[in-house]
Amino acid sequence: MRVGEIEVLAVHDGVARMPITDTDFFSMAPEAWEPHRQFLSADGEHLELVLGGFLVRSGDRLALVDCGFGPMERPPFRGGALLTSLAAHGVQPADITDVLFTHLHFDHVGWATQKGEVVFPNATYRCHEGDWGHFVGPDAGATRKLAPLTERMAFWSGSGPLLPGLDVMVAPGHTPGSTIMVLSSGAERAMLLGDVVHCPIQLLDDEWAGISDVDPALAKRTRNALARELEGSGVPVAGAHFEGMHFGRLLVAEGKRRWVV
Ligand SMILES: [Zn+2]
Repeated sequence: MRVGEIEVLAVHDGVARMPITDTDFFSMAPEAWEPHRQFLSADGEHLELVLGGFLVRSGDRLALVDCGFGPMERPPFRGGALLTSLAAHGVQPADITDVLFTHLHFDHVGWATQKGEVVFPNATYRCHEGDWGHFVGPDAGATRKLAPLTERMAFWSGSGPLLPGLDVMVAPGHTPGSTIMVLSSGAERAMLLGDVVHCPIQLLDDEWAGISDVDPALAKRTRNALARELEGSGVPVAGAHFEGMHFGRLLVAEGKRRWVV
């Protein structure tokens, strides 16, 4: 994927294969999924969330946006491939200049540190200050994972330019500091949505529930505003967990939204 001069590569770590009947994650009746079967696994009973991150090469920066679940298994989450996937792109951990977190949920920070050691030794790690305050301290798991980064963290607190060709757009609700990465080069634009949207169904149906939203009402308002902004814009977008980590566009035909990869 190219956005003008910017190169964007998917970096796979693993998958979470979630039964749509699992009420820990989903609140919709099985029939509600029927019109959206194209987004489900072949058996029609699971939503598969890809785990990983996106590599963004822009100017002299090589940024990793989110860093997967990590080398472990906690059903339905299973990760471990991220460093191998990076190597397949010819990238070593020391090459990464910036690690950007769309938010600090465990399935986005898995490879930030391992056994208390920083994984990307030359990177500045960056996130929204609201997420740092929400997770580091109050959340024991996040604190264990992220506290070793304290000295090398940099924070944003609002929307605006962050790196060459990369702006942050704050989109709260899923977490307090959930952030969309907006890539732009020349006349081209693309967005990395993080978990503001878990699955394209949430862009098609304004009433579709989120997954693990810290503030569900705010998350829904944010999602619906995003869908209105995207529809018909032609801007390619990818959520952190979309199938195949593919970008797609939200089109409108005869008053109905359509998701096209
Ligand atoms: Zn996630």
